Amino acid sequence: MISIEEMASFCRRKGFVYPNSEIYGGMAEMKNNIKQNWWKFHVNNREDIVGIDGSIITHPKIWEASGHVAGFADIMLECKKCNERYRADQLIEDVLKIKADGLSVEDVNKILKQNKVKCLKCSNSLTDANEFNLMFETYVGPKRNKDNITFLRPETAQLMFTNFKYVVENSRLKLPFGIAQTGKAFRNEISPRHFLFRCREFEQMEIEYFIHPDKIMDCPHIHEVLNYEILVYSAEMQKKDNKPVKMSMKKAMSGGMLKPWHAYWLSVEHKWFVDLGVNEENLRVRQHLSDEKSHYALDTWDLEYKFPFGWKELQGIANRTDFDLKQHIKHSKKDLTLYDEESKKKIIPHVVAEPSLGVDRTFLVFMFNAYDYDKDRKNIVLKLHPKLAPIKAAVLPLVNKLNKEAKKVYDGLKSEFNCFYDSSGSIGRRYARMDESGTPYCITFDFDSLKDKKVTIRNRDDTKQARIPIKNLKNILNNLINYGGKFSEL
Ligand SMILES: [Zn+2]
Repeated sequence: MISIEEMASFCRRKGFVYPNSEIYGGMAEMKNNIKQNWWKFHVNNREDIVGIDGSIITHPKIWEASGHVAGFADIMLECKKCNERYRADQLIEDVLKIKADGLSVEDVNKILKQNKVKCLKCSNSLTDANEFNLMFETYVGPKRNKDNITFLRPETAQLMFTNFKYVVENSRLKLPFGIAQTGKAFRNEISPRHFLFRCREFEQMEIEYFIHPDKIMDCPHIHEVLNYEILVYSAEMQKKDNKPVKMSMKKAMSGGMLKPWHAYWLSVEHKWFVDLGVNEENLRVRQHLSDEKSHYALDTWDLEYKFPFGWKELQGIANRTDFDLKQHIKHSKKDLTLYDEESKKKIIPHVVAEPSLGVDRTFLVFMFNAYDYDKDRKNIVLKLHPKLAPIKAAVLPLVNKLNKEAKKVYDGLKSEFNCFYDSSGSIGRRYARMDESGTPYCITFDFDSLKDKKVTIRNRDDTKQARIPIKNLKNILNNLINYGGKFSEL
């Protein structure tokens, strides 16, 4: 596997991402594809989930209620001489090679003093560590005083709670149901790093899934995933230094390690990645240890991906219980309860799972998964799933003399698919460029095409070719890209 730095330079060279992580061309297209596929899978294809689009500038009360004003902080410190700033957990992990997630300010100061950790740049001593709130502040209206402070949302989740009642009333959903949202969130990271991995501005795809408080062990969809197998790494396995084990959800639930709703949602999320081509060897689910869990969570499992710099979280699936709705009821004084027809009582639903995924991390997973150097071809082949590929097909005239007719083929496709027309350079060179951009199909127009009205379609992954009538091209591509059609059956 290539390193994150090599991936960053590849993305820049191919115009996927520009130096300051500006999103451009290929990446913008691919992020749209990721979001569209996520939305189709999680919202359009389900009857129990509806989507919303909440606001970015949000009332401070929301973040008081959620606990973000008080506790959404990183611990940081700086060099007394050169003022270089460090995030304490990163510094401890880099210098002392110990896990520093979830340490308190006191712990951090103790560890740094005991080990006499100095500035990495100038070797002078460091200040004491302090908490630093990660929310971006701004002001609403013309006056810049503390009464007008507001925040850019640090996560999308809270909007699903504050809009909860409206959604229920309008959609007439019955428990269990979910609310989904995709959109930007903002965190004032002290030292963004790992290329797109921790950014100040990022995009989330998230669901809050609500269930009846008396039915937390009752998942009506569980039969769909009983035989689904995942690499599982429970808290106990981690404590005993055992290796993760591949097992069915039935087995994971039988010992009580996984509760039904967690088993269901972990499988659904795992499957989304696998269906889009991610190698399951590089995916696992890991339970949080008791000291890692967020302030609101009863049990949290992360879906993790094996990046070149180690296993990292892709999404946390947390059982938030009724924490958020209760907090919002308390702070907003609004009634966010539901009326339960069965018991004739008011109930507060529990959030049993909160599948939450960063678009940029997801982009990186698909890029690492797709990246392949082909020794025979002597070029990189980016084996993206056709649904995610920024360019679906390239139309290539064999020689410039055929431009006029080949362009007609391109014009016939471009309204339906994001296509690319390329007439410059040898055909081999053009194939290689398309391989590197992840374009699954190249369509070559040659002299025979003028007579037989057929073109040659080339498959990126195995370079196999087929001759097909131009009039069937649109249907064939649609079948290959969107409906799992097989190239070998052409
Ligand atoms: Zn220094």
